[in-house]
Formats: sequence, structure tokens, C-alpha cells
Amino acid sequence: MGKLPIVRTRAALRREIGVWRSERLRVAMTPTMGALHEGHLSLLRLAATRADRVVASLFVNPTQFGPGEDFQSYPRDESRDAALLQAAGCDLLYAPPVEEMYGDGFATAITVSGVTAPMEGAARPGHFSGVATVVAKLLIQGLPDVAVFGEKDYQQLQVIRRLTADLDLPVEILPAPIVRDPDGLALSSRNAYLTPAQRAVAPALYRRLIEVARAVAGGAPIAAAETAGVEALLAAGFDAVEYFEFRDPADLARLGPGSISGPARLLAVARLGRTRLLDNIAVAA
Ligand code: AMP
Repeated sequence: MGKLPIVRTRAALRREIGVWRSERLRVAMTPTMGALHEGHLSLLRLAATRADRVVASLFVNPTQFGPGEDFQSYPRDESRDAALLQAAGCDLLYAPPVEEMYGDGFATAITVSGVTAPMEGAARPGHFSGVATVVAKLLIQGLPDVAVFGEKDYQQLQVIRRLTADLDLPVEILPAPIVRDPDGLALSSRNAYLTPAQRAVAPALYRRLIEVARAVAGGAPIAAAETAGVEALLAAGFDAVEYFEFRDPADLARLGPGSISGPARLLAVARLGRTRLLDNIAVAA
């Protein structure tokens, strides 16, 4: 097996994908910021079941990081990532430099309203505009038939669905389930920031999500269950709980305070030191 081909310009990306198109092959894209783990690789494998060729992108997008966030220190190891991608069935890696994505005079941003307002949007001003702009650019550059995004970033997935529909991008958005460590902690490149003591506390987040979702699915009132969830997480050793909320699975409107009346999503961010752990689960009505 030769090395995974890497392209660094949108012209080269289009050329490669154009060859596949001329052979009538179906193309999937999986955008990532690198520091790959099983979660990313599961996206790739899912993509491979839905397409003949899979392109992964690797781009640590500066515009989705706020001041004081970890853009500079975000883990970067392209040759490791390329080897993992190739082993998972990737056909092409698109790894543009920042100047290729944001040339001189770049002045356009995409703003999605509504679904971007609460939770991550409230905690990280400008984050979703950065995400929406870069994802729109990647999808327009590659024009894949299908693009895969993880439910790990559930709000981001809803933002991308909204933007794809609103901008008439002819790309199917395919969600991928969350991949977890055996103890339940959702895989994340940022888990590497946890100390051993913090890592020991971290799996409590998923356990509480399951427990509280089950209570609400069984008829418990939503507002009281949310409060109990926050208290349980603080008691388990989390330093703060930024949110722990039942929301509509599509438009992310807040649910409650009473009993659940349809499908929902329970989304949470809990902090250990400076590290924000994101997780969420589906709630059956
Ligand atoms: P990132 O590199 O963090 O931007 O993530 C790239 C893609 O991988 C996004 O669509 C994420 O939602 C997805 N992803 C990250 N972690 C996981 C996970 N544990 N399970 C499933 N998908 C994930």
C-alpha cells in the first residue's frame, strides 16, 4: 500500500475529486482538526460504507477558536494522522495551510441564527460562525455527495444541517454516533489535557446523562431532573457544570419544566479545571 495522497490546495482537491466524478464514483468527506482518535476514524469508516471514495480534511481552523482558547497549543501531528486515516480506508487527505483557506482580504463570514444561540454559542462567542464558514468552504471546495459529522458535537451537527439546507448545498449530512472509552467517557482530542485525577472523575458525566435521561423518559419532570443532574456532577468532583439541559433534538429549543412529550436530546458541558467536557444523549419519549 502506497502512502496516503495529500493535497494542500483547493485546486488540487478539485482535480482529484474531478477524476473520481468522471468515473461516476460517489464521494464522502469527513472534516477534522486532526489529533485523530477512534471517534474520527469511526466517521471515516461510516463514510466508506456510503461512498466509493473518502476524503478527510485536516485543518485546525483559527476562526473557530476564541481569544485565550487553545488554537496555538492544539495537538498537531500530520504524519501520525495520515497513517491512521489510511489504515481506516481514507483515499485522500486535504490539509490546506491557513493562507489557502483565508487568503489576503478574506472578509466573509456565515452566521447561522437560532440553533447557534444557546450552549456552545453562548459560551464561545463567534465559535459557530467560524465553524459554519469553514464547513461551508470545505463543502463548496470538495462538493462531496455526503459529509459525515459526529453527534459528539451535537449542536455543531444541527448548525451544519441548517446551513446546508439554507445555502442549498447539494451534500447529504450524515450523523455518526459518539465513540466512547470503555468507561463511557466520550473520546475527544482534548481529553489529553486531563490529569489522572480528572480523568478518573470524567466518566461520571456519561453516567449521569444516562441516569437523568432515563428518569425523564420515565415521566420525571424535566427541570427538577436537570437540577439533580447538575448537583450529582458537582458531588462527583466536577469543578463546574456549564449546562445540563433537555432540548428539542432539531431546533434545540429548551424543554420543560414538566414531563417530556416527544423525543429530546440531553446536552451537557461539565468542567474539570480548564477542560470543558462535552457530551449528550438521545432521550426517548
Ligand atoms: P474535531 O476534529 O474535534 O473537529 O472533530 C471532527 C469530527 O469528529 C466532528 O464531526 C466531531 O463531532 C467528530 N468526533 C469527535 N469526537 C467524536 C467521538 N468521540 N465520537 C464521534 N464523533 C466524534
